[in-house]
Amino acid sequence: VLHYDWLEGHANRVPDKTVWIDLHSNRSFTYSQANDRSNRLASHLQINCGIEKGDRVGVLAMNSTDMFEMQHACAKIGAIFLPLNWRLTVSELEFIINDAAPKIMIHDSQFNNEIAELKEKTSFKQSLETSGGGGDTPYEAAIRGAESKPAPVEVTHDDIWTIMYTSGTTGLPKGAINTYGMTFYNAVNMGFPMGFTPDAVALTILPLFHTGGLNCYSSVALYVGGTTLVMRAFDPAECLRLIDDADVGLSHFFGVPANYLFMSQHPDFVTTDFSRLVCAGIGGAPTPVPLLETYEARGIALQQGYGMTETSPTVLVQDAAMATGKPGSTGKLAMNTQVRVVGEDGEDVAQGETGELWVKGPNITPGYWNRPEANAETITDGWLHTGDACRMDEEGHYYIVDRWKDMYISGGENVYPAEVESILFKMEGIADIAIIGVADDRWDEVGCAVVVKSPDSDISAEDLLLFCQDKLARFKIPKHVLFMDELPRNATGKVLKRVLKEDIGDLR
Ligand code: ATP
Ligand code: MG
Repeated sequence: VLHYDWLEGHANRVPDKTVWIDLHSNRSFTYSQANDRSNRLASHLQINCGIEKGDRVGVLAMNSTDMFEMQHACAKIGAIFLPLNWRLTVSELEFIINDAAPKIMIHDSQFNNEIAELKEKTSFKQSLETSGGGGDTPYEAAIRGAESKPAPVEVTHDDIWTIMYTSGTTGLPKGAINTYGMTFYNAVNMGFPMGFTPDAVALTILPLFHTGGLNCYSSVALYVGGTTLVMRAFDPAECLRLIDDADVGLSHFFGVPANYLFMSQHPDFVTTDFSRLVCAGIGGAPTPVPLLETYEARGIALQQGYGMTETSPTVLVQDAAMATGKPGSTGKLAMNTQVRVVGEDGEDVAQGETGELWVKGPNITPGYWNRPEANAETITDGWLHTGDACRMDEEGHYYIVDRWKDMYISGGENVYPAEVESILFKMEGIADIAIIGVADDRWDEVGCAVVVKSPDSDISAEDLLLFCQDKLARFKIPKHVLFMDELPRNATGKVLKRVLKEDIGDLR
């Protein structure tokens, strides 16, 4: 058995246990079946496609168990799994494919046209089509036709398993290298606080081309020998139904704040029984405290966590015991990792003060693919500079304040949009909100609130400002209020503030 062939390891121990369920195509696989399919895919890639250790296997597909097969087939032959964001345009994909240079692209039938165009514009020569749901496809034929015995390839902690492009929230996505060691340490770091055991049944709703889908909690559930259900694309009603269904027996659910927000706005929310969940994890973007309270009122304490693609992702975790005591905290330091809160001078700030979070440990990326300047800027002496503003309280609980890039300075005072958003989420009639800093002649910058109203609400800009008056200092109260039908979000559900900023333009 190879070092990182987790699938084969469990297939030897518990062959008949269910590892994956594809909700879209209604297919279920035991560890032994999944391992056999992954082995066959691996030997097809090795023998028929000439994929060797270190070659990139690109994937352009919506969530399905196929993607897990590809991820583990890559581990078996030391190839690099390169899942790409299918919501990107062809020219954005062209940039990434030129950057990562996959030898083959495995893709859903629905992306045939894009793949044909990309094949002309970039350097990959081979492609393999799947439906993402079985049936008579070249992908299934390849699996049927190959032998279940790829030639073993040795990999170590430091070899690359995956290249995952970051969300592209703040700029062009960067290819964060994820090694086997990082993925292993994340499974350990996340597994204990989130209560993972072999009985775990996890639901994956976030895209598998993102660390949120791949590692929260798919790879963790696999590491402990549990079961993962994968949803093709996030559907709030279906999530609530699965959580409520005793026969499904869901124990673990992970979502970004937007997932939880949209679920809480669904009519079925008030009748959903959340009590069977061992862990409802939330992270990936600032979590408004009112959202935590909404779930608490339904009897479920959401467990906040903090991390990034570059940190595989877990850095800070809140375990269940802490979930109620410190609202808004992203928790304590995970195991096997170190952090510092650093000021502009590169020195640690005093406890309680806000600085930039730096992270070091075996769960940290060795760097971005092909980006020496970004690496030199982001990682110094093994410390990864997260770009996030953070503070720690006297008991060692961390609070992610916001991204430094989203902070703005109004009349010399720092304003963190996440704090203002959290207050305004309490206001009746607001379904969704984002605060951004815009230029101002008098104060340099001021806040602009971009508001999505609840369906029957007729709140006005004046109402909103009135609501803020006794809750926020003058300099934090937004000066402009704009109403929109929905906020621009990326594939992982994060608000694209740079897009909002561009759309809004100059309000002076
Ligand atoms: P890009 O780096 O391409 O701009 P991104 O930073 O959104 O995109 P990810 O790696 O998906 O890419 O996200 C990591 C970021 O998400 C963190 O740096 C942080 O800003 C934010 N984040 C993650 N968890 C939390 C949390 N619990 N609270 C607040 N922010 C969080
Ligand atoms: Mg980032």
